[in-house]
Amino acid sequence: MKKYIFNFKSKVSNKINFSKNILGGKGANLSEMGRMGLPVPPGFTISTEVCELFYKNKKKINYKILGEIDKELKNIEKDTGKKFGDLNNPLLVSVRSGARVSMPGMMDTILNLGLNDETVHALANRTSNMRFAKDSYRRFIQMYSNVVLGVENYNFEELIENYKLTKGVLLDTELDENDWDGLIKDFKNIVKKKTNKEFPQNVREQLFGAISAVFLSWESHRAKVYRKLNQIPSEWGTAVNVQSMVFGNMGNDCATGVVFTRNPSNGNHQIYGEYLINAQGEDVVAGTRTPQHITKKARIASNESLPSMEESMPIAYKELKKILHKLEKHYKDMQDVEFTIENKKLWMLQTRSGKRTAKSAVKIAVDMVKENLISKKEAVLRVEPNSLDTLLHPTLDEKSNIEIIAKGLPASPGAASGKVVFTSDDAERLNASMQNTILVRVETSPEDIHGMHAAKGILTARGGMTSHAAVVARGMGRPCVSGSSEIEIDYEKKLFKVQDREIKEGDLITIDGSTGRIILGEVKTVKPEISGEFSKLMNWADNYRKLKIRTNSETPLDSKIARDFGAEGIGLCRTEHMFFDEERILSVREMILSKTKDDRLLALSKLLPHQKKDFIDIFKIMNGLPVTVRLLDPPLHEFLPRTDKEISEVASSLNIPIKELKVRITELHEQNPMLGHRGCRLGISFPEIYEMQCRAIFEALVQCKKQKVKSIIPEIMIPLVSTEAEIKIMKDLVIRTAKQVESEKKIKLNFLVGTMIELPRAAIKANDIAKHAEFFSFGTNDLTQTTFGISRDDSGKFLNDYIENKIFDIDPFVSIDEGVADLIDIASEKGRSQNKKIKLGICGEHGGDPKSIEFCAKIGLNYVSCSPYRVPVARLAAAQAQLKK
Ligand code: ADP
Ligand code: MG
Ligand code: MG
Repeated sequence: MKKYIFNFKSKVSNKINFSKNILGGKGANLSEMGRMGLPVPPGFTISTEVCELFYKNKKKINYKILGEIDKELKNIEKDTGKKFGDLNNPLLVSVRSGARVSMPGMMDTILNLGLNDETVHALANRTSNMRFAKDSYRRFIQMYSNVVLGVENYNFEELIENYKLTKGVLLDTELDENDWDGLIKDFKNIVKKKTNKEFPQNVREQLFGAISAVFLSWESHRAKVYRKLNQIPSEWGTAVNVQSMVFGNMGNDCATGVVFTRNPSNGNHQIYGEYLINAQGEDVVAGTRTPQHITKKARIASNESLPSMEESMPIAYKELKKILHKLEKHYKDMQDVEFTIENKKLWMLQTRSGKRTAKSAVKIAVDMVKENLISKKEAVLRVEPNSLDTLLHPTLDEKSNIEIIAKGLPASPGAASGKVVFTSDDAERLNASMQNTILVRVETSPEDIHGMHAAKGILTARGGMTSHAAVVARGMGRPCVSGSSEIEIDYEKKLFKVQDREIKEGDLITIDGSTGRIILGEVKTVKPEISGEFSKLMNWADNYRKLKIRTNSETPLDSKIARDFGAEGIGLCRTEHMFFDEERILSVREMILSKTKDDRLLALSKLLPHQKKDFIDIFKIMNGLPVTVRLLDPPLHEFLPRTDKEISEVASSLNIPIKELKVRITELHEQNPMLGHRGCRLGISFPEIYEMQCRAIFEALVQCKKQKVKSIIPEIMIPLVSTEAEIKIMKDLVIRTAKQVESEKKIKLNFLVGTMIELPRAAIKANDIAKHAEFFSFGTNDLTQTTFGISRDDSGKFLNDYIENKIFDIDPFVSIDEGVADLIDIASEKGRSQNKKIKLGICGEHGGDPKSIEFCAKIGLNYVSCSPYRVPVARLAAAQAQLKK
C-alpha cells in the first residue's frame, strides 16, 4: 500500500518543498526540526493526499488508513513510554491541521485529546496535580465540542464567566480544581443538551473524530475565504499532525510562547515574541490574557512590569535563543516559532518562515546578504513585489494637527483614516459604497477576515503583536494597532470610550500602525521615499532586470512621482485626460458639437495652446526619456454636457438654440460606446482633431528645443487600430502635420509613430500593421475586454461567480489571461518578423501585475508601463522574472 502516514522521524524527501506538498508546512518542519536534533514531542503526519481521499470517500477515513494510524500511534507510545487511553500513564495528543502554506488560525487544532472521566484521574495521579489535569480536561471538552461536535464556544465561555463572577475572581488561573470539576460537569451537560449525545469517552473515537474535523475544516467558510484572498488552490488539501502533548499549564515553571527570530514589524535583528506562564497553546494568540515579553529589552522598551522570559526563565531562554539561531542558519530565513516549556524543559512545537511587513521583508533580505546567509539574487527573490505597495503608500504628515486620543501596539505599519465600524459586515457594506472604514474590535477572530479585508485599518483593544489581528493585518498589508487597553468598546451602543470621550460608529479616526497612535479625525499624509535598505534592494533588482519600466501618466505631478520611483519613460500619456480640465471642457464640447468643420477648427484652435503647454511640462520632467502620447481615444459622448447649465453654456458659445443642441446630443448617443465611435475611428472621421494634437506635440518639441530642454523623442500612438489601412492613413496624417511644422519652424523633428494593439484582429494581422508602425503597445485592458467580449465596466456583477466556479483562477483584468497572452505572443512574433526593430511594450493595468510582468519578460517585450505607485513593484517583479527564467 502507498505510504500515507509519516512518523516525524522519517524523511519524505531531501527537497523541503516536495515534503511540504505531502506533509504540509507544519508537518515537514516538525520532522525537519526533529532530524536537526531539536526537542520535538514525538508524533506523525497524515499526508495531504489523505485529505483528497477523505473527500472522495464521502468524508470518511478509509479503514486501511485507520489501521495505519493505529500502528503509528503505537510508535508514539513506544517513544513516550505512555499509552493512549491508559488508566495508569495515559498518552495525550494534539491533532493539528497543516496545509502546504501556513493559514494562521484558519483551520482547527485540538489539544489534550485522550482525556476522559477516567484518564483524567490517571493524569492527576501521575503529575500529582489535580488542578492541571482538570484544567486540561475542560479545555479538551471545550475544543473538541466546538470543533468536532459543533457546539459554539460562547456556551462554554459564558459558564466560565458566570463561575468567575460568583467566585469574585478575574482570571481563569484563579479557578481551582473544584471549580473546574463543577465546570466539567456543566460542560458535559451543555454538550448533551446541544447534541443529544454524551461527550465521547472512547479515546479512539475521539481521535478519529478530531482527524475528520481537521479535514472538514479545509472546506470551512473562513478557510475558503482565506484561500481566495491568497490564491491558494483548494486541491492542495491539509495534512493532519498527531503529536504527543507537552504541557505549559502544569504550574509556574511551565509556559507557552510564540517568537520570531527577528522583528516581523521592522526587521530589526533581535528576537521578538511573547509568552504566558502556566498556559496552553492558544492562550497566547487568543488574546484572553495579555502576554509578556520574551526579552528584557522589549519589556523595558514598552514599559511593562511583568517579567520577561529572559528574566523569569533564564535557562530555558538561553536554550531557546540558541535554537532560534540554529533554525535561522538552517532555513536561511526569519522563522516564526511556537514553543512550550513543561517543568522547565523546552519543547519546540512549530517553525515556519515568519510573515512580515514589507518593511521588515526588505530589511531582513538586505541584512541577510550582509550576514552572508543569502546571495543578492536570493535577496531580490525574497521580497514579494506586490507587498512593496505598503511601503509606497502615504505616511502621516507629522506637520499637520495630530490629536492623539490613545495608543496601542504598532502591529502592522502604515496609516489609515476612516469611519469607525464595529462589525466586519459593516466594514464590508461601507466598502461596497466606497467608504473608508476602521474596523474596531475587542479582538478579531477568523470570522472577521472579510471585514479586515474591506476595512482600511484595524484597531483592537486586546491582544499582542502576535494576536490574530496583528498577524492577519500584516499578511494583508493593512495598518493595524492592536491591544490598546485604553479604549473600552461597547458593541451594543456602537461606541468606544477613551479617557472621557465617546467615539461613535461613523466618527472619523486615523490609526498609525507604525507607531501605535490612535488619532481623532482624518490626518494629512505624505509620499514616502525610497531610501536605505529599500533603495539598496531596488538597485540590486535593477542590475538583474532586462525589461524597462515606464509609467502611465498625463500630469506633471504623476510624472514626477513616477520618475522619483524610477520610471524610465512614459508608456502611456492619455491625452483625453487633459481634456477634462474645467478650463478646457467648454472648448472640447464646442469641438464635439460643432456642425461645421470651420466651427470645429475654431474650437480646436482654442485647445491647442493648452495641449501644447501640457506636453512642454511633461517633456521637461521626463528630461530626455521616451514619452508615448496616445491620441484621443474615448467615445466623444463622454465629454458631452449633461446638466441644463452646461448645455446652455455650450449653446450660447456655439450660438445655436438649446433645442438644436439637444438634438445633436441625442444624435451622438451610442448603444455600445466601447465598440463605437472612438479611437482612430475619430481620427478617420475628424482628422482635424488628431492634427491639432500632433501639432501640439510638435510645437511643444520646438519650444523645448528653444528652452534647451534635453530633447526627447515622442512616440505618437494611434489607438484602436484593427486594419492596415487605418494605421496607414493615420501615419500619413502625423507625418503631414510634422512636415508642416518643420517647414514653418525651419527645424527637423524626431518622432516615432506606432499603434496600440488592443483588438484581436490587430493582433492576428500584426505583420500588416507593422509595415506602418515603429512600435506596438499592447493595451491589455481593451484587449482582454475584446478577446473575451466581456465588458470591463459590467464584469463586476458576475466575475465572482466565474471565480467561484473555477472558470477563472483570477480576474483576467488583473492578471493576463492565457488566451490574451497568446494573442500578444502572436502579435509580437508577427510584428518582429515584419520589422526587426519594432519596439514592444504593454500599457494596460497588467503592466503593474507581477505575474503579467513575468510573461512580458518571457516573450522579450522591451518595456512595461504601469501607474506611478506601481513602478517599484514592476522593477522588482521584472528582476524576479529575469532571475526565474
Ligand atoms: P495553528 O496552525 O493555528 O497555529 P497549531 O496546530 O500550531 O495551530 O496549534 C496551536 C497551538 O497549540 C500551538 O501554538 C501550540 O502551542 C499548541 N500545541 C499544539 N500541539 C501541541 C502539543 N503537542 N503539545 C503542546 N501544545 C501544543
Ligand atoms: Mg501554530
Ligand atoms: Mg484602449
